[in-house]
Amino acid sequence: MMMKKLIAGNWKMNGGLTANDSLVQALLAGLAAQPAGCDVAVCVPFPYLSQVHGLLAQSSIGLGSQDVSAHESGAYTGEVSATMLKDFGVRYCLAGHSERRLYHGETDAVVAAKVQRALAAGLTPIVCIGETLAEREAGQTEEVVKRQLAAVIQANGHCISEIVVAYEPVWAIGTGKTATPEQAQQVHAVLRAQLQAASPQAGHIKILYGGSMNAANAAQLLAQPDIDGGLIGGAALKPADFLTIIAAAK
Ligand code: PEP
Repeated sequence: MMMKKLIAGNWKMNGGLTANDSLVQALLAGLAAQPAGCDVAVCVPFPYLSQVHGLLAQSSIGLGSQDVSAHESGAYTGEVSATMLKDFGVRYCLAGHSERRLYHGETDAVVAAKVQRALAAGLTPIVCIGETLAEREAGQTEEVVKRQLAAVIQANGHCISEIVVAYEPVWAIGTGKTATPEQAQQVHAVLRAQLQAASPQAGHIKILYGGSMNAANAAQLLAQPDIDGGLIGGAALKPADFLTIIAAAK
């Protein structure tokens, strides 16, 4: 199905007041010269949400966070709730990025709870799923991504029509190794079928690809029928590259 694509940058733990300012100004200038034919978002570290919200005012770039708490409020030191994010003009939040699953022990159940909190606060969660290299080599790719997505579907029922899914093979994140367009498409088609079986309104759920997407390989990946956009790490910090990827997402 043809739908407007989404290109979302994940800055990870990078940036600073000055660097963010130059990066956003360069993106805004680029988009003024060549308006995007897709939705665009940047997912920034928590302390800079307010700064970037200010920089993005009047622009169509959506503001995103990189995480959200699985809890509503209370004694959860260091956590940031979905309602707080909403207060700061946040529209998207990543949930279950592989770096959170791997280094912070986020389980499928925790990720599903984060998605619930995000949806309840009116945010659009970008749910990240993907297999490790060992899982791919063991022939478990489909089983793993379906299990990760099923946890989110079970906890959220028909509300899942409001999510965005990002298929990010762990072996491709930050490694320079990209899934081939065919490898990515194959998994995206499986996820599309799973979403459609779960909800009659799932037809418009965007399924992004992430994992070393860059200015050189974006067009081919984005041309696949079930790839509805990209979640971009490293290349999102380079305005020219990020703008090239946006231009490829017509
Ligand atoms: C990511 O952080 O979600 C990501 C895809 O990173 P990279 O593009 O650097 O592989």
